[in-house]
This record gives sequence, C-alpha cells and structure tokens, in this order.
Amino acid sequence: GELGPEQEGLIIAHYGQQLDVEALQGDDAGQVFRCFVRANISSLVTGDKVVWRPGKSETGVIVARCDRENLLQRPDNFGALKPVAANIDHIILVIAPEPEPHDSLIDRYLVASESSDIPAVLLLNKTDLINDQNRPQIEALLARYEALGYQVEQTSAAACEGAPAPEVEALVRNQTSVFVGQSGVGKSSIIQTLLPDEQLRVGAVSESTGKGVHTTTTAKLFHLASGGDLIDSPGIREFGLWHMTPQEVEYGFREIRPLMGLCKFRNCRHMGDPGCALDAAAESGEISRERLKSFHRILQDMAEQQARGLKLT
Ligand code: GDP
Ligand code: ZN
Repeated sequence: GELGPEQEGLIIAHYGQQLDVEALQGDDAGQVFRCFVRANISSLVTGDKVVWRPGKSETGVIVARCDRENLLQRPDNFGALKPVAANIDHIILVIAPEPEPHDSLIDRYLVASESSDIPAVLLLNKTDLINDQNRPQIEALLARYEALGYQVEQTSAAACEGAPAPEVEALVRNQTSVFVGQSGVGKSSIIQTLLPDEQLRVGAVSESTGKGVHTTTTAKLFHLASGGDLIDSPGIREFGLWHMTPQEVEYGFREIRPLMGLCKFRNCRHMGDPGCALDAAAESGEISRERLKSFHRILQDMAEQQARGLKLT
C-alpha cells in the first residue's frame, strides 16, 4: 500500500504484533496510529521513540527505533531479561507507614533503579497514618535515604478529593514517571488522582483507531494533565523484585559501590568475612548499619533464590 513520509512517533501501547504510535509531528500530532513493525526491528516497548510512516485509516509502519535514554527490563518465566518500557525519567518508589516498610524491600527497588540507570525518588504516602509510635522510625528511614542523596517526598492520597496533591503533581510534571512499590502502599490511589478519567482515556484511544476496546497487560503510556507522562502496568509496579546477581547488588548500593576492592581478601563475599571493608565502614559510621544489614539480607535472599531455581530446573 501507499505510505506517507517518515516522521517521529512515540509508542504508547503494545498489543502483540501491533503497537500504538502517537504522532509527534505535523497535523496528526497527538493522534494514535495502530502500527506494524518492519521485520528487522526487534523488541520495541512503550516509551520508545520511533520513525514511522502513516498508512491508510490510522494505521502505519514503524521503520526504525530511535536511541534510548534507558530501559526498564524484567525477567520472563525463564529468567531472561525482557524490555518493558523505555525513556523513563524517574522511578517513584512509594512507601507508607502501613504496610510497614522493610529496608531490604526498599533497597531491592533501589538496586534495580541503580542498575537500570533510572533515578529513584522515595514518596512516602499515607502521611495521615503517622503517629507518635511510628514517627521516629519513619523519620529515621527517610533521613537515611536523604543522606544517600535520594530525593524524598511525602503525600497522602487519601487527603486529595480526586485532584492530585501539589507535591505529587510537582514530582511528575514534565517527566516520564513510573510508580513502583509494595502492594497496599497506595500506588493505584495516587495514579487515580493523576488520571481521574483513565477509563475514558483508554476508550478514547481505541475509538480514534476505530478498532474497539483492546485490553493489554503490557505497559501503557498516559499523558498527565500537568504535562509529563506516566507509564504503568502490573509488571512495572513489581519492578526489581526478582533475581539479581551479587555484582548488581554490590553496584546497586551507591555507598557500598566505592568500597568494592578494598576488602582484605580478593574473594571476599562481604557477608561478615574477615577483613571485609564493609564491616569496617559500618563500624566507623561511614555507611549505615541498617543498609549493611539490608545488603546482607538481599545477598542471602538472592543466593537462596538461585539455589531454589537451580533445583527446579
Ligand atoms: P497499591 O496496592 O499500592 O496500588 O495500593 P492502593 O492504592 O490499592 O491502596 C491500598 C489501600 O490504602 C487502599 O485501601 C487505599 O484506600 C489506602 N490508601 C491509599 N492512600 C492512602 C492514604 O494516603 N492514607 C490512607 N489512610 N490510606 C490510603
Ligand atoms: Zn568484603
């Protein structure tokens, strides 16, 4: 068939062999085209910028992928890493007084963020549940991550009557964001305030392609009213909760990373081994004991997960 001239587009959703591309240029800017991919381009994901050519009745062909800033990946059922979303400005890691945050869980998300080279922001939700009992612990936790250089923000999704909280709006404005975190911390509630008419939007996209409503479990990109985009999927919300190598974990603790190579023995496992530089750093207060404990815990979990996986296969 006849194809129009090459132009830039943004992948906003993925349906098997087809992708929804939003036109970024010209009269069609903002419109969505259901596109096929030229056989020689592999693994396009939501958030990818592409070069494409429009065809008939809001279809098109993707001819090239533009360079990526970064890539969020997760393993498939066989443990191979699969790309999930691209060009993300930051990962917003949501925590809350309830369910009670565990250091090692927070740190697993942070390790994944560090190894993907996507900055992480900690967002404490449910500030309305802070009381005299849990306040000291929560404040200490936030201070610990702030001291490591992570941006920390606070909000309460329950307190906003539909509209996004100003602090959340400021965080996502003109950025491409993903929300991650433990189940129950309030990710859906926060996302709902940012996308009050998500259903309507999804419907509108399908309507414009004239192909009815499609459901997908892959990542979807949404435009936010305040400017900026949100990429979301059930898989993305669990980002980081899978097997990581000891090297990834060592790299992912940003204050531990520079200590690598300083241990007495070259084959130090950093699990309380004699002469471990990490223990010395915790002793002198250079790194926090909580983070070292969490580091040990994650290495241990990964070793156990690895052993279980090896037994299964
Ligand atoms: P998700 O699993 O992270 O997506 O969490 P949800 O958005 O489903 O929220 C889990 C529960 O926490 C729901 O019952 C929400 O109503 C509640 N919740 C969400 N935000 C707040 C908040 O700021 N304060 C309080 N008290 N509850 C909240
Ligand atoms: Zn060591």
